[in-house]
Amino acid sequence: MNALDTLIELSSQMDLEHAEESRQPVGRVDASDNKHRTESTHPSCFTPKARPEFTEREKRAAFTHPAQLPNGKNIVLLKTLLSSACERDCYYCPFRAGRDFRRATFKPDEFARLFSKMNQSGMAQGVFLSSGIAGGGVRTQDKLLDTAQILRKKYQYRGYLHLKIMPGAEKEQVYRAMQLADRVSVNLEAPNTERLAKLAPHKIFIEELLRPLRWVEEIRKSVPAYKFWNGKYPSSVTQFVAGGADESDLELLNTTHWLIKNVRLTRAYYSAFHPIRDTPLENKNAVNPMREHRLYQASFLLRDYGFELEDLPFASDENLPLHADPKLVWANLNLIHNPIEINNADKHQLIKIPGIGIKGAEAIMNARRINKINSLSTLKKLHILADKASPFILLNGKKPAMQTAMSL
Ligand code: SF4
Repeated sequence: MNALDTLIELSSQMDLEHAEESRQPVGRVDASDNKHRTESTHPSCFTPKARPEFTEREKRAAFTHPAQLPNGKNIVLLKTLLSSACERDCYYCPFRAGRDFRRATFKPDEFARLFSKMNQSGMAQGVFLSSGIAGGGVRTQDKLLDTAQILRKKYQYRGYLHLKIMPGAEKEQVYRAMQLADRVSVNLEAPNTERLAKLAPHKIFIEELLRPLRWVEEIRKSVPAYKFWNGKYPSSVTQFVAGGADESDLELLNTTHWLIKNVRLTRAYYSAFHPIRDTPLENKNAVNPMREHRLYQASFLLRDYGFELEDLPFASDENLPLHADPKLVWANLNLIHNPIEINNADKHQLIKIPGIGIKGAEAIMNARRINKINSLSTLKKLHILADKASPFILLNGKKPAMQTAMSL
C-alpha cells in the first residue's frame, strides 16, 4: 500500500471525531447506508493507485475537513489515525479489536513526510492525529510523539497540530505532547465510570482518561508558557459519544461543567451515537443529531454565559428539550415576566437574553454610554437579534412591540 492509500484507509472514519468544529468534509462521499456507517469507502476522487503528486482533485480529498481553529481562523484540516490496528474492543468503534477489515499503519517518518508534502502543496493547513492502540497506551503515545517531533523538527512544520493523548499515557508523555502540539485531547467517551463500562469495557475512566486531563492543567500551572513549541499553552478538549451509554444530558453536562471549571477544558465535543456494523452496538438506534446541537448550545451557556447547571431546562428525564434552544427555554421560564432593562443591565444579565451574545452585550454597553437605547432598530444596528430579544427586554422602561417568544 502506498502512503496515499494508507491515508485513505486511515482517514475514512474520521468524521466520528468532531475536532476543531469540523463541518462536512471537503468533497465528502457519503459512505453511510440508512442504518450504519460503513467500512472504509474510497473517495471518488481517489483510486488505490493514486500517487502523492496531489492533483487539484486530490487537494479536495475526502480526508480533509474545513475546520475552525480556536483563534477563529478557518483552515483545511487533515484528520487521521497513525494506525487503525487496535487491541481494545470499545463497543461503538469501527477500529475495535477483532472486527474484520483491512488495517493500516503509518511509520512516524512516513506520515510526517506525507503530511509535510500535503502542507507544502496547500492541501492541508493543519493536522489532527490520533491512533488505535497497539502494544499499550504508552508505546502508542510514543509513536504519536515521534511523529509530532519529526514534523516539528525535521520538516520544520509550524502549523496547527492537534495530538490525541492515548488512554494510559504517562505524565511525561502528556508534557511532551503539550510541548509539540497546539491542542491535546483525551476522549472521555462517557460522563462517568458506570456509563463508560457500557461503551468501552477496558478503558478506566479515572486513571486512564480523566487523569491525563488533570495533568494537562497541572502542567499549564507549573511550567512557563515559553517551554511550549510556540510560546503558548496548548488547549485541551474531550469528546463524548452522546447517547451511546443511555446517559442523560444532565450527566454529560455535569461532567463537562466540572471539566471547564476544574481543568480549564476549552470545550467538549459531542458525537451523536451512530451504530456501526459488526460491533456489539450495531442494533442500537442512532441518536438524533439535534441532541448534539443542544448539548453544544448548553455547554456554551455553561462556559461563556454564566449559566449554572441548575439553570439549564432539563426535563424530568434529565434531557434537554430537542425542539428549542436551551437559552430560549430558560428565558421563557425566567424573563418573560421579569424583562431586563437594556439601559442599565450589567453584562452578565445582558448575555442571558436570547439574541444577545458576548459581543452584542459589549456593543450595547458602549452604545448606551452615549445615548439611551429606545428602539429595536437601534439594537439591530448593533447586530443584536432584536426580534428574538424583544419579548425579554425593556427599552427605557417600556416593552418593545410585543413579540411571541418563538422556539428557535
Ligand atoms: S481504543 Fe480507540 S481505536 Fe481502539 S477500539 Fe477503543 S475507541 Fe476504537
